[in-house]
Amino acid sequence: MPNITNDYYDVIVIGTGPAGFASAVRSAQLGLKTACINTRHDANNKDTHLNTGDIATMALLDSAKKYHSLIYDCAQHGIFANEIKLDMSIMLQRKDNILAEIGDKMVELFNTHKIGHIHAKARLLNPQQIEITEDDTQIKTVINAKYIILATGSEAITLPNIEIDNEYIFDAKAALNIDKVPNKLAIIGAGVMGLELANIWSRLGASTILLEAQENFLSVLDQQISGAAFSLFQNQGLDLRLGARVISAKKSNKNIVIEYQDQEGNHTLKVDTVIVACGSRPNTANLAAPEANLLLDQDGYVYVDDNCRTNLPGVYAVGDLTLLGPMLAHKGIEEGIFVADYIAGINNPINYEIVPSVIYTEPEIAWVGQTEQALRASGEEIKIAIHPIQKNIRALAMDKQEGLVKIIAHAHSDKILGVHIIGTQASELIAEAVLALEFSASSEDLARTIHARPTLSEAVHDAALILKDRVLHQSEY
Ligand code: AMP
Repeated sequence: MPNITNDYYDVIVIGTGPAGFASAVRSAQLGLKTACINTRHDANNKDTHLNTGDIATMALLDSAKKYHSLIYDCAQHGIFANEIKLDMSIMLQRKDNILAEIGDKMVELFNTHKIGHIHAKARLLNPQQIEITEDDTQIKTVINAKYIILATGSEAITLPNIEIDNEYIFDAKAALNIDKVPNKLAIIGAGVMGLELANIWSRLGASTILLEAQENFLSVLDQQISGAAFSLFQNQGLDLRLGARVISAKKSNKNIVIEYQDQEGNHTLKVDTVIVACGSRPNTANLAAPEANLLLDQDGYVYVDDNCRTNLPGVYAVGDLTLLGPMLAHKGIEEGIFVADYIAGINNPINYEIVPSVIYTEPEIAWVGQTEQALRASGEEIKIAIHPIQKNIRALAMDKQEGLVKIIAHAHSDKILGVHIIGTQASELIAEAVLALEFSASSEDLARTIHARPTLSEAVHDAALILKDRVLHQSEY
């Protein structure tokens, strides 16, 4: 029988990823007695915020871009390096140091806000009680809370005939710790994770093949952007095979033999390294005892209403655990803050229509609002402007002229309905578009806004000017 402590919290958050972290800090700021429960991620206790790969991906992609540009781009700047060496252990250590620093800052914030931090595995027993199994002692205790916020995030999906050994066959998370550049790498899944990993490892020198089950590349994107992305990545040397469903991957001597199926039949492929990047599923296994009756859907997502409330009174779910909005860190953070406010009686609803999405490749892909295909399907009357980044003078100076900005506005009201960008620093450029949608701006508003020159942001401005027939740069180059 577990002990029952007398500790009583206003709010207990299960999970310290971005969503859980944000809800804990905000709850504490609002004067609620708060604790967070999370199992230790490693022996060094670097456990907060780090169960997302986004920061690690950023750090490694940055290193890979530097290496690649030293080899391929620097000569045209008149910069020559005689001997370029790659030391993966230093590169990985730099990435780990960044994660550790962020982890330390978060622990500091927890301490400043007097948030209880419990290293344990948590299981919801009922709307006000959680059983915890402490990491170090395995002692079970029951703790009580008035409100519970579930924020355990998601984990990588594995495939039935593929055994992950993290030596030759890696999951998407372990693929950020490979200590030797593969010669021939196959990535299963050309979704967000697969492409981000392909962008890293191919720049470090791995010959990279992506096997994607779907016929349509990046089908959630505006089709013009996914088409442009497909050509750009192919030109970078990625071998993108669509409609290629992987059936198995097995080790044979020092190789991995992959079997996959496409329209032409069955194929085998020999590589030295495989990464499985087939998406994520919510971490809900054993999150609640059966008698708690927490309602999940058939894929394991926690059922929530528009206010992140589960079917149990006082129990909320945020971040990747639910199907509300995309599985992105910033969406989870907003939900974490929203729920803490909601508990404290403040209602600041999230507008899920304008959550920006980003794919951290090079060039980056970012978008907000609706796609052309979705708007056409709903019969909306629209007007569209496309501005190639090739015409942007800052991009010319940076030698980063690939990509385009696409703005979709309502044909009559001129209200901006969607902005889609593929290009260098698209993740930064999209912020202006998000603000425009937040304020229900028209393309006229964006066109009348003065943008500094020379900047990449002029590409967004120019796209808005096209809609007003006022662009200067259409045929400049
Ligand atoms: P994301 O969720 O964006 O990381 O995308 C995961 C991708 O993996 C999706 O595009 C899936 O179609 C793809 N996928 C899932 N299972 C397989 C499989 N057996 N073979 C190839 N691709 C797959």
